[in-house]
Amino acid sequence: MKHVLAKAKWLLCVALFFVGSAHLQAQTSSTAPAFEVVVLGDSGGIQDGNLSAFLLRSLTEPNYVALDAGTLVNGINQSIKQGAFSELTIKEDKKWGKAGTILRQHVKGYLLSHAHLDHVNGMLVASPEDSKKSIYALASVNTMIGETYFNGKAWANFSDRGIPPLLNKYHVVDLLPGTSTPIADTELSVTAFSLSHPVESSAFVIEHGDDIFVYFGDTGPDIVEKQGKLDAIWTYLAKQVKHKNLRGMIIETSFENERPHNLLFGHLTPALLMGELGRFAGKIGGEQPLKGLNVVISHIKYSLAKNVDPRAKITKQLNEANDLGVNIIIPQQGQKFQF
Ligand SMILES: [Zn+2]
Ligand SMILES: [Zn+2]
Repeated sequence: MKHVLAKAKWLLCVALFFVGSAHLQAQTSSTAPAFEVVVLGDSGGIQDGNLSAFLLRSLTEPNYVALDAGTLVNGINQSIKQGAFSELTIKEDKKWGKAGTILRQHVKGYLLSHAHLDHVNGMLVASPEDSKKSIYALASVNTMIGETYFNGKAWANFSDRGIPPLLNKYHVVDLLPGTSTPIADTELSVTAFSLSHPVESSAFVIEHGDDIFVYFGDTGPDIVEKQGKLDAIWTYLAKQVKHKNLRGMIIETSFENERPHNLLFGHLTPALLMGELGRFAGKIGGEQPLKGLNVVISHIKYSLAKNVDPRAKITKQLNEANDLGVNIIIPQQGQKFQF
């Protein structure tokens, strides 16, 4: 009897441990990865061919969704060269080369954070040879992309709404903030949130089963923007991590700490990002709740100026301010990560 009781106690302890540490599984390397991220474009401007764009897929399927599409075909080509698709079973295609096949067969949709050119340029220029798929964005973002690019002037209207003639290649889906929407032809679903930027921007919480990954489009910090939009996402995520595994996030750090707040134009610096993550940690509670969380830094502003290296400086400033113990990742175009 004593023996049975001891065993029951032990099982209860193990069960409680797993329940208690569910949200931390993402942050330790002991759990098998759930998502793959391919970096099509790592920078936030200036350098064409390397602008904000990532591919994300669940490792249970060969289908990606694009997170922004500032750079598309060049990013796929660079990623092929670096072996980023080596674990993907690429469908044979008689007509299309490898990059074409990946874009046409394996990228099933676009999640577009906002209408700025550095986030949509790759999709626009690739559209003549792209396959039919959906564009997912907040309603105001879809409207702005329609009016600005798919207007028959800047570009032909490859979408299925707005200014005629409609080429009907891209089905436009409006995402309702805070409401989960399935991403067609994938096992993923997405919940969008509004972000503060000169035009409305968005964050996407992407789910596969109990695993979640978050992509942030361009965003200013709440202390400057005064709209509490990041706060609303931190509150949502703090609730989610109680029963789901947060595998990581992609979030921007455009400028160095020295940049004055009145010249941020809706962007973050290392100190401001760490301040935001600190508020997220506070909402989860406990000691170092974000320790080991994968935080991929996007949108570092490239510069053509002599003797400046924003990437090196931002990396240093992020690491120096990292009291939370998050796993800061400075990605480079063509790299693949599994989280
Ligand atoms: Zn941008
Ligand atoms: Zn922007």
